[in-house]
Formats: sequence, structure tokens, C-alpha cells
Amino acid sequence: MITELISVGTEILLGNIVNTNSAYLSEKCAELGLSVYYQGVVGDNEERMKLVIQTAIERSDVVILTGGLGPTEDDMTKEVTAGLLGLPLVEDAHTKERLEKYLKEYENNNAQRRITANNYKQALVPEGALILDNHNGTAPGLIIEKNGKTVVLLPGPPDEMKPLFEEEVFPYLRKKQPEVIYSQMVKICGIGESQVAEEVQDLIDKQTNPTIAPYAKIGEVHLRITAKGENEKECKKLIKPIVRELKERFGKNIFATDEDKSLEEAIVDMLKDQGLTLALAESCTGGEISARIVNVSGASDVFTHGFVTYSNRAKRKCLGVKKSTLKLEGAVSAKCAKEMARGGCYFSGADICLSITGLAGPGGGTKELPVGTVFMGCCYNSKVITQEYHFSGNRSKIREQATAHALALLRECIMEGISKKG
Ligand code: ATP
Repeated sequence: MITELISVGTEILLGNIVNTNSAYLSEKCAELGLSVYYQGVVGDNEERMKLVIQTAIERSDVVILTGGLGPTEDDMTKEVTAGLLGLPLVEDAHTKERLEKYLKEYENNNAQRRITANNYKQALVPEGALILDNHNGTAPGLIIEKNGKTVVLLPGPPDEMKPLFEEEVFPYLRKKQPEVIYSQMVKICGIGESQVAEEVQDLIDKQTNPTIAPYAKIGEVHLRITAKGENEKECKKLIKPIVRELKERFGKNIFATDEDKSLEEAIVDMLKDQGLTLALAESCTGGEISARIVNVSGASDVFTHGFVTYSNRAKRKCLGVKKSTLKLEGAVSAKCAKEMARGGCYFSGADICLSITGLAGPGGGTKELPVGTVFMGCCYNSKVITQEYHFSGNRSKIREQATAHALALLRECIMEGISKKG
């Protein structure tokens, strides 16, 4: 069923509030197997609201509106929707009773406040609408069925909208749409987005159910495999052969098949499994790689040291980088990265040390050593490897890419070390 989400409120258009309702509803609709084709935001303006809601009703089967159900003049979602559907607004005795009780309590608890006539506007509902009691506010939710279309009206505040959706709207729509959507993520690192896209193009070309959608993240590519079926079990069955195929194609570059698993979590898990400890020797990333590792709960089992050696002196004093290396090759060099990694292992006693040194810019670049040049080293099993990278973008972008690639390299080195050991 084609579904459209409309958030009403000028404050959303102005950027004063973030439209979290849409993000929440989109996820829920996906869970329900509803196809959200459109999302929109419209201000508290009658003419524009009419146009947006009319268009939505024409092109979608289910339209979910949030906001604009309050008592004030500019709250007109219900009035506009009822008008477009040709439904008169009638007073609902049950809602009026609930409203009076709620407002009396409010008046008793707030001596300065008084119930005003416009509060009763919330007891008016489009004729024939299904009324959803709002236990956290005054405006009820509404479901209207007309000419094969379903229009759902929900209050704007998330703490009112979410319980109404979960308790009332979700089960209602579930009955209309028995199919569910289930998806699984395959997360890849160490290969670029275009290469991944090329390698799965044939699968994408012939996809119907499940579908494969690639998402590029810095240093990672995620493939979301989504299936539609009668239930989750059926969806999982449809997804399984695709995941198997992807595992065959991308092998060790897949670091997770779990939506919530991050690259750093996968690394910490690997280190734990192998009983290995880790140290990091960072220059241009200034501790960002360490911060990502420390984000993982239980990192203390494996992470021993994070050296942030920004100056040449720190590289020498903390990691034992040779004076001659810094003088002849410079701090941004493969040799320096190598000595940083080796020194990191030596001074920390950790099994593995990844080092990173580079030019994040914007100044300091030369023709031979342009901004974005980064060297990484990894010392493991008494061996040190180095890699040279060239990133582009501004300072923070370069540091972000360097961090992501460093994690990918670290993972690769742990795997290599493991296979060599094994
Ligand atoms: P009320 O009866 O509280 O006026 P309402 O249904 O009229 O409810 P709005 O006046 O449109 O809702 O919004 C009330 C508040 O709810 C906003 O100030 C905002 O804090 C929150 N809100 C509204 N829409 C959204 C949205 N799309 N995403 C997140 N928060 C929202």
C-alpha cells in the first residue's frame, strides 16, 4: 500500500524543531510492509495544507498526518482533512467527556489557568471517524476511511503520537496489510563503494523480492537486503541465499551481518576471540581511532594504550621514532609510521599496534606531499606493514576518512595475523 507521511507545523519548516515524527513513522511503516513513497512537511497555512493533503489522498492509499490537532486557530489539520473528504465535524460525546475531565484536573492543578472555549474544538471529529483516545494529551487520534483511502491524524508531540501509533494505529494497519517487511544488513569494509556496486550489479538487476540497496558510509559500504513476506520467518528464508551469495563474493571484507554492529565492535570482538591486546599510536587523527575503540563496551579487555603523539618530540619520546627518520623522511612518511607502530607495541607491550601519521591540512601541503597524504603502520607478530593513502576534502573530512580506513586496515591486519598464526 502506497503510504505518505505529512508533518504539519511551521516550526518544522523553519528548522526550529527536528522532524523526528517522520523518521519514527517511516521505520514503523517499513515494519508493517507499507511502502512509504512520499514524506512532506507543510506549515500552518490552510491553502497550502489543502493542496498537500489533497495531493496525498489522490496518490497514496494511506496518509498519516501528525501535528495541528491542538485547540488554537492555527491548528487546522482536522478541519482541512474533513473538508477535503466532505465530512462534517460533529461533537463526540465520549471525547468531550474525557476532555472536560482532563481540563478540570488541569484547572485544579494550575490556579492561573482557565479552560477556554477553543479547548472544546478538540471534541469535534469528522463524522464516521474512528476515535483513538489520547492518554497523554487532549487531542484524540483519528482514523478516517473514505473511498478506499485511509487517513490517520495524530497529535504532533512525540510522547502523544508514539503511544497512539503503537497501541492503536499499528494494529489497525497490520490488519489491512498482513505482509511484513524484514531487512538484514551486510556491512563491508576495505573495498570502495563503486567496486561493491559493480560486484552486486547483476544481483540488483534481477532483484524483485528480496531487494538489495547499497549505502556508502565513510570507509564502509552497507548492503541492505529487504524481503516482503507473510511473516518474519518467510522473509528470513528469502534473505538467506542472498546473504550467502554476498559472503561468497565479499568474503573477509564483510565485518558484520548485524544492523547494530559497528566496525570497532567487530574489531574488539576479534581481539577478544584471539586473546590479543591493542595499542594505537595516532598523530593526525588525534585520538579519534582510540575514541571509536573506547566507544565499544568491554574495550578495556583488549585496548591497553592510546598514544596521541602530535609533535615530533612526542613521537620520539613516547614511541622511540628515530631523530634521523624525522629529519630525513619527515613525520609524514612510511618510515615514521613504521617506527611509531613498532614503538607502540614495544612501549605498551600490546600484541598489535596501529599507527597513523598524515597531513590533514588545510596548510602544509607540498607537491611531493599533498594535503590528505596519510601513512599507516601496523605492527603484529613482530612484523610491521605500512600503507599510504591519499584522502581529499577539508581537515575534518580527511581525519574522518583516515580514522575509518585505519579501522579497516587494523581489522585486516588482525585477520592476516590470525591466519598466519593458525
Ligand atoms: P498540541 O495539542 O500540543 O498543540 P498538535 O497536534 O497541535 O498538539 P503541534 O502544535 O503541531 O501539535 O506540535 C506540538 C509540538 O509537538 C511541537 O511544538 C513539537 O515540539 C512537537 N512536534 C510536532 N510535530 C513534530 C514532528 N514532526 N517531529 C517532532 N516533534 C514534533
